[in-house]
Amino acid sequence: MVGPFATPLGFTVTAGVFGLCIGSFLNVAIHRYDQADQTVHRPRRSYCPHCKHALAWHENLPLLSYLVQGGRCRHCRGRISARYPLVEALNALLWALAAWLGGPQAWALVLVQAVALSALLVATFVDLDHYEIPDGVSIGGMWLAVPVSMLVPDLHADSGLAHWLAGADGRVGWFEAGLTALIGIAVGAGVLWLVGKLGKLVFRKEAMGFGDVKLLGAAGGFVGPGGALAALMLASCLGALIGIANVLRFAWLSSARGRARGRGSQWGRAVRIGRACGSYIPFGPALAIGIGIALLAWNELARWLGSVA
Ligand SMILES: [Zn+2]
Repeated sequence: MVGPFATPLGFTVTAGVFGLCIGSFLNVAIHRYDQADQTVHRPRRSYCPHCKHALAWHENLPLLSYLVQGGRCRHCRGRISARYPLVEALNALLWALAAWLGGPQAWALVLVQAVALSALLVATFVDLDHYEIPDGVSIGGMWLAVPVSMLVPDLHADSGLAHWLAGADGRVGWFEAGLTALIGIAVGAGVLWLVGKLGKLVFRKEAMGFGDVKLLGAAGGFVGPGGALAALMLASCLGALIGIANVLRFAWLSSARGRARGRGSQWGRAVRIGRACGSYIPFGPALAIGIGIALLAWNELARWLGSVA
Protein backbone atom coordinates (compact mmCIF):
# COMPACT_ATOMS: atom_id res chain seq x y z
CA MET A 1 0.00 0.00 0.00
CA VAL A 2 1.37 3.35 -1.02
CA GLY A 3 0.83 7.04 -0.39
CA PRO A 4 -2.41 8.29 1.14
CA PHE A 5 -3.93 4.78 1.03
CA ALA A 6 -1.48 3.70 3.70
CA THR A 7 -2.97 6.03 6.31
CA PRO A 8 -5.92 4.66 8.31
CA LEU A 9 -8.18 7.45 7.07
CA GLY A 10 -7.17 7.14 3.40
CA PHE A 11 -7.60 3.38 3.58
CA THR A 12 -11.06 3.75 5.16
CA VAL A 13 -12.24 6.28 2.57
CA THR A 14 -10.93 4.16 -0.30
CA ALA A 15 -12.69 1.09 1.08
CA GLY A 16 -15.91 3.08 1.47
CA VAL A 17 -15.82 4.24 -2.18
CA PHE A 18 -15.13 0.69 -3.39
CA GLY A 19 -17.94 -0.54 -1.14
CA LEU A 20 -20.34 1.96 -2.70
CA CYS A 21 -19.59 0.69 -6.22
CA ILE A 22 -19.79 -2.97 -5.17
CA GLY A 23 -23.09 -2.13 -3.44
CA SER A 24 -24.51 -1.20 -6.81
CA PHE A 25 -23.62 -4.67 -8.08
CA LEU A 26 -25.16 -6.27 -4.96
CA ASN A 27 -28.45 -4.57 -5.82
CA VAL A 28 -28.38 -6.34 -9.16
CA ALA A 29 -27.68 -9.68 -7.47
CA ILE A 30 -30.55 -9.16 -4.97
CA HIS A 31 -33.02 -7.83 -7.52
CA ARG A 32 -32.42 -10.55 -10.11
CA TYR A 33 -32.36 -13.40 -7.59
CA ASP A 34 -35.79 -14.80 -8.52
CA GLN A 35 -35.84 -13.71 -12.16
CA ALA A 36 -35.31 -16.96 -14.02
CA ASP A 37 -34.38 -15.31 -17.32
CA GLN A 38 -31.77 -13.00 -15.80
CA THR A 39 -28.40 -13.42 -14.15
CA VAL A 40 -26.02 -10.87 -12.67
CA HIS A 41 -24.33 -10.78 -16.10
CA ARG A 42 -27.40 -10.70 -18.31
CA PRO A 43 -28.75 -8.25 -19.30
CA ARG A 44 -25.46 -6.34 -19.18
CA ARG A 45 -27.06 -2.97 -18.47
CA SER A 46 -29.32 -2.18 -15.54
CA TYR A 47 -32.79 -0.99 -16.50
CA CYS A 48 -35.76 0.83 -15.00
CA PRO A 49 -38.26 -1.72 -13.58
CA HIS A 50 -41.20 0.38 -14.79
CA CYS A 51 -40.37 1.38 -18.37
CA LYS A 52 -37.50 -1.12 -19.02
CA HIS A 53 -35.36 1.75 -20.27
CA ALA A 54 -31.67 0.72 -20.11
CA LEU A 55 -29.79 3.04 -17.78
CA ALA A 56 -26.94 5.17 -19.09
CA TRP A 57 -23.80 5.22 -16.94
CA HIS A 58 -24.74 8.60 -15.43
CA GLU A 59 -28.14 7.23 -14.39
CA ASN A 60 -26.49 4.32 -12.66
CA LEU A 61 -23.99 6.01 -10.35
CA PRO A 62 -24.30 4.56 -6.86
CA LEU A 63 -26.22 6.82 -4.47
CA LEU A 64 -25.59 9.97 -6.59
CA SER A 65 -28.02 9.18 -9.41
CA TYR A 66 -30.76 8.43 -6.91
CA LEU A 67 -30.20 11.72 -5.10
CA VAL A 68 -29.86 13.82 -8.27
CA GLN A 69 -32.96 12.29 -9.87
CA GLY A 70 -34.96 12.60 -6.66
CA GLY A 71 -35.63 8.86 -6.49
CA ARG A 72 -37.39 8.74 -9.86
CA CYS A 73 -36.63 7.31 -13.31
CA ARG A 74 -35.50 10.08 -15.68
CA HIS A 75 -37.69 8.74 -18.46
CA CYS A 76 -41.00 7.59 -17.02
CA ARG A 77 -40.72 9.39 -13.63
CA GLY A 78 -41.55 6.07 -11.96
CA ARG A 79 -40.48 5.77 -8.32
CA ILE A 80 -37.19 3.95 -7.69
CA SER A 81 -37.18 1.92 -4.48
CA ALA A 82 -35.20 3.52 -1.65
CA ARG A 83 -33.70 0.09 -1.10
CA TYR A 84 -31.16 0.61 -3.91
CA PRO A 85 -29.38 3.56 -2.29
CA LEU A 86 -29.86 1.91 1.11
CA VAL A 87 -27.98 -1.25 0.06
CA GLU A 88 -25.23 0.87 -1.54
CA ALA A 89 -24.84 3.07 1.54
CA LEU A 90 -24.89 0.08 3.90
CA ASN A 91 -22.24 -1.74 1.88
CA ALA A 92 -20.06 1.38 1.78
CA LEU A 93 -20.37 1.74 5.56
CA LEU A 94 -19.55 -1.93 6.17
CA TRP A 95 -16.46 -1.80 3.94
CA ALA A 96 -15.31 1.43 5.58
CA LEU A 97 -15.90 -0.06 9.04
CA ALA A 98 -13.87 -3.19 8.21
CA ALA A 99 -11.05 -1.00 6.86
CA TRP A 100 -11.10 1.30 9.88
CA LEU A 101 -11.01 -1.58 12.38
CA GLY A 102 -8.36 -3.57 10.49
CA GLY A 103 -6.07 -0.82 9.22
CA PRO A 104 -3.98 -0.76 6.03
CA GLN A 105 -1.40 -3.29 7.26
CA ALA A 106 -4.12 -5.96 7.49
CA TRP A 107 -5.48 -5.22 3.99
CA ALA A 108 -5.83 -8.91 3.04
CA LEU A 109 -7.90 -9.64 6.15
CA VAL A 110 -9.97 -6.50 5.55
CA LEU A 111 -10.67 -7.58 1.97
CA VAL A 112 -11.92 -11.01 3.10
CA GLN A 113 -14.11 -9.42 5.79
CA ALA A 114 -15.50 -6.84 3.35
CA VAL A 115 -16.46 -9.45 0.75
CA ALA A 116 -18.00 -11.66 3.46
CA LEU A 117 -20.03 -8.69 4.77
CA SER A 118 -21.31 -8.00 1.24
CA ALA A 119 -22.37 -11.63 0.91
CA LEU A 120 -24.23 -11.34 4.23
CA LEU A 121 -25.96 -8.20 2.98
CA VAL A 122 -27.19 -10.06 -0.11
CA ALA A 123 -28.33 -13.01 2.04
CA THR A 124 -30.24 -10.62 4.33
CA PHE A 125 -32.23 -8.91 1.61
CA VAL A 126 -32.90 -12.07 -0.41
CA ASP A 127 -34.14 -13.77 2.78
CA LEU A 128 -36.43 -10.82 3.55
CA ASP A 129 -37.91 -11.04 0.04
CA HIS A 130 -38.07 -14.77 -0.58
CA TYR A 131 -37.62 -16.50 2.81
CA GLU A 132 -34.54 -18.28 1.55
CA ILE A 133 -30.81 -17.81 1.71
CA PRO A 134 -28.98 -18.09 -1.63
CA ASP A 135 -26.78 -21.18 -1.93
CA GLY A 136 -24.20 -18.99 -3.64
CA VAL A 137 -23.62 -17.33 -0.26
CA SER A 138 -23.98 -20.33 2.08
CA ILE A 139 -22.53 -23.23 0.07
CA GLY A 140 -20.19 -20.88 -1.79
CA GLY A 141 -18.95 -19.62 1.57
CA MET A 142 -18.33 -23.16 2.83
CA TRP A 143 -16.23 -23.99 -0.23
CA LEU A 144 -14.21 -20.79 0.03
CA ALA A 145 -13.70 -20.79 3.81
CA VAL A 146 -10.87 -23.33 4.05
CA PRO A 147 -8.67 -22.12 1.16
CA VAL A 148 -9.23 -18.46 2.14
CA SER A 149 -8.36 -19.24 5.77
CA MET A 150 -5.14 -20.93 4.64
CA LEU A 151 -4.24 -17.89 2.50
CA VAL A 152 -5.14 -15.39 5.23
CA PRO A 153 -4.51 -17.18 8.55
CA ASP A 154 -5.09 -13.86 10.37
CA LEU A 155 -8.82 -14.60 9.99
CA HIS A 156 -8.40 -17.04 12.89
CA ALA A 157 -5.74 -15.14 14.83
CA ASP A 158 -8.24 -14.52 17.68
CA SER A 159 -9.54 -18.08 17.80
CA GLY A 160 -8.80 -20.01 20.96
CA LEU A 161 -8.92 -23.28 19.02
CA ALA A 162 -6.37 -22.06 16.47
CA HIS A 163 -4.03 -21.02 19.29
CA TRP A 164 -4.43 -24.35 20.99
CA LEU A 165 -3.67 -26.10 17.69
CA ALA A 166 -0.61 -23.91 17.21
CA GLY A 167 0.79 -25.26 20.48
CA ALA A 168 3.86 -23.84 22.15
CA ASP A 169 4.96 -21.28 19.55
CA GLY A 170 1.38 -19.91 19.42
CA ARG A 171 1.60 -18.59 15.86
CA VAL A 172 -1.50 -19.32 13.80
CA GLY A 173 -0.24 -20.45 10.37
CA TRP A 174 -1.97 -21.81 7.28
CA PHE A 175 -2.41 -25.29 8.75
CA GLU A 176 -3.98 -24.19 12.04
CA ALA A 177 -6.20 -21.68 10.24
CA GLY A 178 -7.39 -24.22 7.67
CA LEU A 179 -8.18 -26.80 10.34
CA THR A 180 -9.98 -24.21 12.47
CA ALA A 181 -12.09 -23.28 9.42
CA LEU A 182 -12.99 -26.92 8.82
CA ILE A 183 -14.01 -27.46 12.45
CA GLY A 184 -15.85 -24.13 12.38
CA ILE A 185 -17.98 -25.29 9.43
CA ALA A 186 -18.84 -28.55 11.20
CA VAL A 187 -19.69 -26.84 14.49
CA GLY A 188 -21.62 -23.96 12.90
CA ALA A 189 -23.80 -26.16 10.71
CA GLY A 190 -24.00 -28.95 13.32
CA VAL A 191 -25.24 -26.81 16.19
CA LEU A 192 -27.95 -25.11 14.16
CA TRP A 193 -29.02 -28.42 12.62
CA LEU A 194 -29.37 -29.77 16.17
CA VAL A 195 -31.34 -26.72 17.29
CA GLY A 196 -33.66 -27.24 14.32
CA LYS A 197 -34.16 -30.93 15.17
CA LEU A 198 -34.92 -30.12 18.81
CA GLY A 199 -37.24 -27.29 17.79
CA LYS A 200 -39.16 -29.63 15.53
CA LEU A 201 -39.46 -32.13 18.38
CA VAL A 202 -40.68 -29.52 20.86
CA PHE A 203 -42.87 -27.25 18.71
CA ARG A 204 -43.94 -29.88 16.17
CA LYS A 205 -43.26 -27.53 13.29
CA GLU A 206 -40.30 -26.52 11.16
CA ALA A 207 -38.36 -24.20 13.46
CA MET A 208 -35.25 -23.65 11.39
CA GLY A 209 -34.72 -23.47 7.66
CA PHE A 210 -31.89 -25.49 6.19
CA GLY A 211 -30.62 -22.28 4.57
CA ASP A 212 -29.81 -20.96 8.06
CA VAL A 213 -27.93 -24.18 8.85
CA LYS A 214 -25.78 -23.81 5.74
CA LEU A 215 -25.20 -20.11 6.40
CA LEU A 216 -23.92 -20.67 9.94
CA GLY A 217 -21.76 -23.50 8.58
CA ALA A 218 -20.15 -21.11 6.11
CA ALA A 219 -19.78 -18.51 8.87
CA GLY A 220 -17.98 -21.03 11.10
CA GLY A 221 -15.42 -21.40 8.34
CA PHE A 222 -14.60 -17.69 8.60
CA VAL A 223 -14.99 -17.01 12.34
CA GLY A 224 -14.15 -20.45 13.77
CA PRO A 225 -16.34 -22.61 16.02
CA GLY A 226 -16.33 -20.12 18.92
CA GLY A 227 -17.25 -17.26 16.62
CA ALA A 228 -20.08 -19.29 15.10
CA LEU A 229 -21.53 -20.03 18.55
CA ALA A 230 -21.23 -16.36 19.54
CA ALA A 231 -22.91 -15.35 16.27
CA LEU A 232 -25.77 -17.77 16.94
CA MET A 233 -26.21 -16.43 20.46
CA LEU A 234 -26.31 -12.81 19.25
CA ALA A 235 -28.69 -13.77 16.45
CA SER A 236 -31.05 -15.53 18.86
CA CYS A 237 -31.26 -12.49 21.14
CA LEU A 238 -31.78 -10.22 18.15
CA GLY A 239 -34.29 -12.59 16.54
CA ALA A 240 -36.30 -12.74 19.77
CA LEU A 241 -36.37 -8.94 20.03
CA ILE A 242 -37.43 -8.58 16.39
CA GLY A 243 -40.05 -11.31 16.85
CA ILE A 244 -41.56 -9.68 19.93
CA ALA A 245 -41.56 -6.27 18.24
CA ASN A 246 -43.28 -7.76 15.21
CA VAL A 247 -45.99 -9.51 17.27
CA LEU A 248 -46.62 -6.28 19.18
CA ARG A 249 -46.85 -4.33 15.92
CA PHE A 250 -49.52 -6.65 14.55
CA ALA A 251 -51.32 -6.72 17.91
CA TRP A 252 -51.32 -2.92 18.02
CA LEU A 253 -52.67 -2.69 14.45
CA SER A 254 -55.38 -5.19 15.23
CA SER A 255 -56.33 -3.45 18.47
CA ALA A 256 -56.44 -0.06 16.71
CA ARG A 257 -58.78 -1.52 14.13
CA GLY A 258 -60.96 -2.97 16.87
CA ARG A 259 -61.22 0.45 18.52
CA ALA A 260 -62.03 2.12 15.20
CA ARG A 261 -64.91 -0.31 14.75
CA GLY A 262 -66.15 0.41 18.25
CA ARG A 263 -65.39 -3.05 19.62
CA GLY A 264 -63.05 -1.74 22.28
CA SER A 265 -59.37 -2.60 22.18
CA GLN A 266 -59.66 -6.33 23.19
CA TRP A 267 -55.98 -6.83 23.92
CA GLY A 268 -56.19 -10.59 24.41
CA ARG A 269 -57.65 -11.08 20.98
CA ALA A 270 -55.23 -8.57 19.46
CA VAL A 271 -52.22 -10.38 20.89
CA ARG A 272 -53.52 -13.71 19.55
CA ILE A 273 -53.89 -12.20 16.08
CA GLY A 274 -50.48 -10.56 16.44
CA ARG A 275 -48.91 -13.91 17.26
CA ALA A 276 -50.56 -15.56 14.28
CA CYS A 277 -49.52 -12.83 11.83
CA GLY A 278 -46.26 -11.62 13.22
CA SER A 279 -44.43 -14.66 14.55
CA TYR A 280 -43.14 -15.91 11.22
CA ILE A 281 -40.17 -13.81 10.28
CA PRO A 282 -37.01 -15.05 8.59
CA PHE A 283 -34.10 -15.81 10.95
CA GLY A 284 -31.54 -15.14 8.20
CA PRO A 285 -31.22 -11.37 8.72
CA ALA A 286 -30.68 -11.74 12.49
CA LEU A 287 -28.17 -14.52 11.80
CA ALA A 288 -26.36 -12.38 9.25
CA ILE A 289 -26.04 -9.51 11.74
CA GLY A 290 -24.71 -11.88 14.43
CA ILE A 291 -22.17 -13.31 11.97
CA GLY A 292 -21.13 -9.82 10.84
CA ILE A 293 -20.46 -8.78 14.44
CA ALA A 294 -18.47 -11.96 15.13
CA LEU A 295 -16.50 -11.39 11.92
CA LEU A 296 -15.45 -7.84 12.80
CA ALA A 297 -15.20 -7.98 16.57
CA TRP A 298 -14.83 -11.58 17.75
CA ASN A 299 -12.03 -10.66 20.12
CA GLU A 300 -13.93 -7.77 21.69
CA LEU A 301 -17.04 -9.95 21.84
CA ALA A 302 -15.17 -12.75 23.61
CA ARG A 303 -13.72 -10.30 26.12
CA TRP A 304 -17.17 -8.82 26.76
CA LEU A 305 -18.72 -12.28 27.18
CA GLY A 306 -15.89 -13.16 29.56
CA SER A 307 -16.58 -10.07 31.67
CA VAL A 308 -20.33 -10.73 31.74
CA ALA A 309 -20.20 -14.47 32.45
ZN1 LIG B 1 -38.50 4.31 -16.16
